[in-house]
Amino acid sequence: MSQLSKMLENITSNLKKVHDEINSCLQRAERSQNDLTLLCVSKTKPISQIIEAYNAGERHFGESYISEAKDKIPQIKEMGYKDIVWHFIGPIQSNKTKHIAELFDIVESVDRLKVAQRLSDQRPKNLPPLKVLIQVNISNEEQKSGCSYADLDVLINEVQNLPQLELCGLMGVAEDTADKEIIDKSFVKLHETFNSLKQKLPHFDILSIGMTHDMDLAIKEGSTEIRIGTAIFGARNYGKL
Ligand SMILES: *Cc1c(COP(=O)(O)O)cnc(C)c1O
Repeated sequence: MSQLSKMLENITSNLKKVHDEINSCLQRAERSQNDLTLLCVSKTKPISQIIEAYNAGERHFGESYISEAKDKIPQIKEMGYKDIVWHFIGPIQSNKTKHIAELFDIVESVDRLKVAQRLSDQRPKNLPPLKVLIQVNISNEEQKSGCSYADLDVLINEVQNLPQLELCGLMGVAEDTADKEIIDKSFVKLHETFNSLKQKLPHFDILSIGMTHDMDLAIKEGSTEIRIGTAIFGARNYGKL
């Protein structure tokens, strides 16, 4: 078997393992199946691997770097794969918002008004409103992106008033720690915040928590979308970027 076909076969079998794991996590949490979106995080990965995951049935893909996404997404669309939902999940520099507003369907990493305003202004009028999640800093690490809990209500009010955005929920990235209790606590707090906002806001139904190493905790704590890269595509090589 060639190196390439071996790699492709791995993606299909990796996806099967991830879905098996998701289903057993849902079962343990006594949640219904089909209750969770798998976002395939394809940053740094080539188009061929995205197509392989597509052919295995996946439709949600996440990218973090605009320089990379603005090459890959138009090419994949031109190849005829038009029903992919593209999620932007990386830190947002305000001078890159135009590409994000043009290329993506959902932006999960909105964390300040300036970025939200620019995304709304720059969303092409022929496209539906851009779906956005607010990224909350749940890790107490100063350098991490995300809106603080203290600033969340104000930002939500502001985002709701922007005409070309549709606020759909919250996103969080847990602290990078082996201490599961710390991660669990941060997910519980975000889930509670999400639930109370959901009572008041229309279209507010996405809680994006959980990555390769903490998806079990995230599913237990109410995640509606997990963002998985490594378990599907293998380790990332940042050398080429
Ligand atoms: C890269 C990335 C992921 C995927 O992480 P894995 O550990 O590879 O599953 C998820 N969320 C965000 C915000 C990311 O940047």
